[in-house]
Amino acid sequence: MSHNRSTKRRAKPHVIGTGLVALDVVIADNADTDPVLCTGGTCGNVLTALAYLGWNSYPVARLRGDAASKRIIEDLEFWGVKLDFISLSDGGSTPVVVQHLRQTRDGQRSHSFSRKCPACGAWLPWYKAVRVANVPDLTTRMPKADVFYFDRTSRAAVTLAQHARREGALVVFEPSAESEPNQLADALAAAHVVKVANDRVSGNSAILRAKTPLLLVETLGSSGLRFAWSGGKKNRSWKTLQAFKVESLRDSAGAGDWCTAGIIDSLWSLGPQGLAEASSSTVQAALMKGQAMAAWACRYDGARGGMYTVSRKDFDDTIADILKGKTKVVKETNSPRTRGTITPVWCDCCLTNTRVAST
Ligand SMILES: [Zn+2]
Repeated sequence: MSHNRSTKRRAKPHVIGTGLVALDVVIADNADTDPVLCTGGTCGNVLTALAYLGWNSYPVARLRGDAASKRIIEDLEFWGVKLDFISLSDGGSTPVVVQHLRQTRDGQRSHSFSRKCPACGAWLPWYKAVRVANVPDLTTRMPKADVFYFDRTSRAAVTLAQHARREGALVVFEPSAESEPNQLADALAAAHVVKVANDRVSGNSAILRAKTPLLLVETLGSSGLRFAWSGGKKNRSWKTLQAFKVESLRDSAGAGDWCTAGIIDSLWSLGPQGLAEASSSTVQAALMKGQAMAAWACRYDGARGGMYTVSRKDFDDTIADILKGKTKVVKETNSPRTRGTITPVWCDCCLTNTRVAST
């Protein structure tokens, strides 16, 4: 929709999202390099990816004022993500997720997630949902959203989604955790687009039977995705789209988040009404754009590693190439670094011990 260049430039679209905004600690187990600390979590990744794609992006999160949230804020600021609705308070919590990257001798790469401190083994802080009591204040201050996104149910998240829907936003729901049944029913009623990974269907199986969302997407890992789009018909059928081949796979973490960002970026301008009336090929093209971004993201370490590595121009060119089926070998850009002294800012337990030891 980039015609009419001579006329008024379209203002940046606005996305408001709530859910997991975490500190990702990315550790390459076989390499002697420092951990990479960046913003992660499903909601954190999707909203930061959208900022990279040119959006005004507003995450709503209840963090704690600690070293981990300081790093999250720095990273979000770097990408131009709006911080208006991130609260830092003693009642909040800054989730930390440790991602271990491994490479076997034959070059196979894999990753695993841990919620324990890699230095001392203590459990790291986890997520706290936005409080219902804060919803009235939030809705008064929030800009009008083109898209509202949420990655797990809570009473406040569902209330915000309902509000955004009434205000005309396209509502996108992607449960990444088990849902409480009543909240899930309300979330499905509020959402226009629902996406779920096949390994997260357990605890959310009502999604696959939901009648009201316009578009249902179930991702199938490296096998691609299947989607059901109503297209004005009562009975919708599922259709499968194969995944794009991933060149130089490094890390599949974050692929689903890029897929979501690509779908949102392709569909938002239709609005809810336009999506209801869209052609099947429009919907399919949006899903394929998301899949191309997912394939791109797998070329880099960490969920959003590519954002720190390539220019926006190169990103657009690469996505276009992937969509055309062109593949090229990606040069590895790893520059060997030696490991310095790492302060485990992700762990209060370690920080306290460091302070005690140095006094
Ligand atoms: Zn620790």
